[in-house]
Amino acid sequence: MNDKPALSNLAAIDAAHHLHPFSDMKKLNAAGTRIIERAEGVHIYDSTGKRYLDAFAGLWCVNVGYGRREIAEAASRQMQELPYYNSFFGTTTPPTTLLAQKIASHTDGKLNRVFFTNSGSEASDTWFRMARVYWKVLGKPEKTLVIARRNAYHGSTVAGASLGGMKWMHEQGNLPIEGIHHIGQPYWYAEGGDLSPAEFGLKVARELEEKIDELGEDRVAAFVAEPIQGAGGVIIPPETYWPEIARICKARNILLVSDEVICGFGRLGTWFGHQHYGFEPDLAPIAKGLSSGYLPIGGVLMSDRVAEVMVEELGDFYHGFTYSGHPVCAAAALENIRIIEEEGLVERVRDDIGPYFAAGLKSLEDHPMVGEVQSVGLIGAVQLAADKKTRERFKDGERAGVEVRNHCLTNGLVLRATGDRMLYSPPLIVTRAEVDEMIDTTRKGLDHGWKVMGE
Ligand SMILES: *Cc1c(COP(=O)(O)O)cnc(C)c1O
Repeated sequence: MNDKPALSNLAAIDAAHHLHPFSDMKKLNAAGTRIIERAEGVHIYDSTGKRYLDAFAGLWCVNVGYGRREIAEAASRQMQELPYYNSFFGTTTPPTTLLAQKIASHTDGKLNRVFFTNSGSEASDTWFRMARVYWKVLGKPEKTLVIARRNAYHGSTVAGASLGGMKWMHEQGNLPIEGIHHIGQPYWYAEGGDLSPAEFGLKVARELEEKIDELGEDRVAAFVAEPIQGAGGVIIPPETYWPEIARICKARNILLVSDEVICGFGRLGTWFGHQHYGFEPDLAPIAKGLSSGYLPIGGVLMSDRVAEVMVEELGDFYHGFTYSGHPVCAAAALENIRIIEEEGLVERVRDDIGPYFAAGLKSLEDHPMVGEVQSVGLIGAVQLAADKKTRERFKDGERAGVEVRNHCLTNGLVLRATGDRMLYSPPLIVTRAEVDEMIDTTRKGLDHGWKVMGE
C-alpha cells in the first residue's frame, strides 16, 4: 500500500492537522495520540498491536460489540442499491420507514413516531423546538421555558450544550441560551449530606416543583433528564427520584423528556431507560446504541399526545437535516436492532450479565479507595473516596481518577474517569470472563491509585 509511510507517521500528522473534540490539544500533542486501528468483539487494538478490553463500548455506543459483518453487509447492500435519498419532499426510503416502525415496536405502544437526526445533539435541538411548537399550537405560546439539570449532558450543539449542565461548556460560547434553567442532580454520595438516599431523591425531585413555581407553570414547556446521567459520572438516582419527577410533570402539565441517548437500546436491561424506571416520557431523544455507533444516526421519539399535535395540527414543521433518516444509516440501525433482538441482548443484560456485572463491581466495595459502587444493567460507576467511613472525597479527585484510569489502560482496560468516579459501559455481549477481567484490572488500578494518592 502506498500510504504506508503516512501511516507510520500518523501521530505527527494528527498533531499537525487534527483538532480533537473535548481535548486540550497542547497536552494531547505533547503526550501523543493513540491510534486505534481495528477491533473485534469487546476488544480494540492500537497501532502498536496492543489489545484493550473496551469497557466503555467506544463512547457508550457499541452495544452489539465490534466486528459485526452483518451490519457492514447491510450498509453495503443499501449503499449499492440507494446510497442516498431525502425524506423532505413527500418521499422516504424503505429502511428509513421500516426503522421508524421497528423502534416504535419496542416502546410498549407508547412512542409511536420518530423524527430522524444524525446525532444525539441534533436530537436535543430537535425536541427543544418541538416542545415549544407543541405548546404554541395548543394556544400557549408563552410556555417556552425548559428545565434541565446541573451536570447533565445533552450534546454539544448550542441547544444541546445549553440544556446540558456543564458550567465549563457554558463558559465557551456564552451559554446557556435564553429560556433554559437548571436544577440539582440526584447525586447522593456527593450532595446528599445527612439525608438517606431515599429522602435525598425526593428532595432533589421537588426542586423541579419549586423551579416551576418560581418560573410560573404557564411558562414552562418541558423538563429534560437522562434516566441515568451518563457523562456527568453515571449518576444513578435513588429509587424515589423518578416517580416523584413523573408525578410533578403530570400534575403541572409540562412535557417530560427522557434523554435516552445512552440508556436506550438495552443498556439498562430494558429497551429504553424510562421502562426500567417505570415512567412515560412525552419526548425521547435517541442515538448511540441505535446503530451501535456503526454509522451516525439519532432521532426523537414522541408520544401519541405530541405526535397528534405535530401531525394533525401543526402543518409544516420547518426543521430537518439533509441526512434525516439516511437510508444507509437506517439499514445499519435496522440490522443492529435485529441482532439485539435475535441474540436476546436486552434480556441477557437484565437477567444474566447485568446481575453478574453488578456483583463483580460490588466486590470492589471492600477496597479502601472505594466509597460506593452503583450499577443498573451494564452501566456502572465506582465512586472513589479518601475516607470511605465519612464519605470524604479526595481534594484532587480529578487526579485520583486519572491515576486509576491510566493504570487500567496500561494493563489493557479502557474505562473512563469523570472526576473521582470510574465509569463502565461495556458492549452488551461482554462475557463473564471479560467482566472478571474488568474487575481484576480495576482492583489493580485502585491499589495503584490508593498508593500514589497516599504519598
Ligand atoms: C452523547 C450524548 C448526547 C449527544 O449525542 P451526540 O451523538 O454526541 O451528539 C446527548 N445526550 C446524551 C445523554 C448523551 O450521552
